[in-house]
Amino acid sequence: MSRKNRPYLFYDTTSSVCSTCLQVVEAKVLIKDESVFLEKWCPAHGIERVLISDDAAWYKLAREVYVKAPEMPERFNTQMTYGCPYDCGLCPDHMQHSCLTLIEITEHCNLRCPVCFAESGPERLKHRTLAEIEAMLDAVVANEGEPDVVQISGGEPTLHPDFFAILDAARARPIRHLMVNTNGLRIGREPDFVARLADYKPGLEIYLQFDSLRDEALQAMRGANLAEVHRRALEQLEAHGISTTLVMTVRRGVNQDEIGEVIRHALQWRCVRGVTLQPEQSAGRNEGLDAQPGAQHRRLTVSELRRRIAEQSGVFSLEDIVPVPCNPDTLAMGYALRLGDDVQPLTRHVGPEALLAGPHSTIVFERDPALKAQVFRLFSTNLSPEGQASCLSDLLCCLPRIDAPQLSYENVFRVLIVQFMDAHNLDLRALKKSCVHIAQPDGRLIPFEAFNLFYRGDRAQRTEEIRAGIAQATQRRATGRAIQVSPVDAGCGS
Ligand code: SF4
Ligand code: SF4
Ligand SMILES: [Zn+2]
Repeated sequence: MSRKNRPYLFYDTTSSVCSTCLQVVEAKVLIKDESVFLEKWCPAHGIERVLISDDAAWYKLAREVYVKAPEMPERFNTQMTYGCPYDCGLCPDHMQHSCLTLIEITEHCNLRCPVCFAESGPERLKHRTLAEIEAMLDAVVANEGEPDVVQISGGEPTLHPDFFAILDAARARPIRHLMVNTNGLRIGREPDFVARLADYKPGLEIYLQFDSLRDEALQAMRGANLAEVHRRALEQLEAHGISTTLVMTVRRGVNQDEIGEVIRHALQWRCVRGVTLQPEQSAGRNEGLDAQPGAQHRRLTVSELRRRIAEQSGVFSLEDIVPVPCNPDTLAMGYALRLGDDVQPLTRHVGPEALLAGPHSTIVFERDPALKAQVFRLFSTNLSPEGQASCLSDLLCCLPRIDAPQLSYENVFRVLIVQFMDAHNLDLRALKKSCVHIAQPDGRLIPFEAFNLFYRGDRAQRTEEIRAGIAQATQRRATGRAIQVSPVDAGCGS
């Protein structure tokens, strides 16, 4: 009798949540042809199968090669009581410190983007007080000592009446790199505002929303024609030499064919240090993405974005984009050395061993002829950039040390893919490695995806109900009759 095989490989099990009731459910990781799926089953809501990668080799690379010992924060903020993801955070079960911490200072915004996970808008007027924000900054410092990156966010943070006092408060603390996450409207419209921002250089970076060069796409993503104000914002940032990252939220059918164009556009501005790509997620105002017809084909994965960068950019090839070891399931990066118009990808010369050894390892670049050639070319020019760092790893989280004093942040261009998981593609194993966290006034630091799913706004109430159910079940378990297990039953003679 010949047995039938299932039409896929059963690669692993993990945990996720049911996207309807948000209860933890077991999930299987299945590989079919070149695609990887998460298949979950909820007793109340049935089976759900979600595409999590369209490149099985990439998925395995992230799972099997880019694995390193988790780096711990200086302290944890909550206890393990209900189990992940209901104990955020950071609870002692979390497996990565905060590489980047968001501080949301306001709910107010001058746009109302259809893709906004914070559901901000002009009608929402609540700003956090300076005292609350200082408490959040203190919590980040207490967790991290010297935080790598703190990102002032919102809503639209530049609309906070105490915006500059907040930057001063951040500056007064030992934060290595300060970012402002903005839609750029004030930067594009108010030259005096940008001039004041420039006082915070170096060490300040603008994280500029930049989905497209075309108003048609910007209407779909942001509900407004923004191409002109983006152009003016970049001119202002360039004039003042303020480090900038372009942040592109990518939606299939709208701007996924524009990735290369945005990267090449970024390279035209000296102030732009790189492009961050974020596949849209089903959260906030964009919730329901997966309920739409054809959703299975709409979800963009890290592996697909990596391929599109390689196909479209003309700068980075597939081998130049590697998983970020802190959280390889959801983050990928490519770094290039940049000298004038010459852009040379760097990551291909940095093997996984160096990346996995962490930011305190040192690459002996003399042993790598190709890398040496690139670095030598930079040495041999008369660069005198201001604000030089002593080594790249002082500037770039996750990169090993390359002792090259004449390199500055201006000579680096990076592409990052940052995927925020939602209730559909959530893998709790990957969530435990999240290194992008959001500070709370009560001192908690919550993984960003967990915050959007379980703790933001009305979500907190649902999480409280789930916690109450878990507490009742735990109580029943604790008071139940103890089960006697004999050594034979336990299957172990020792
Ligand atoms: S996501 Fe991290 S912090 Fe939150 S409950 Fe899970 S392990 Fe703890
Ligand atoms: S995504 Fe940003 S710019 Fe758009 S509404 Fe939300 S906070 Fe405002
Ligand atoms: Zn369910």
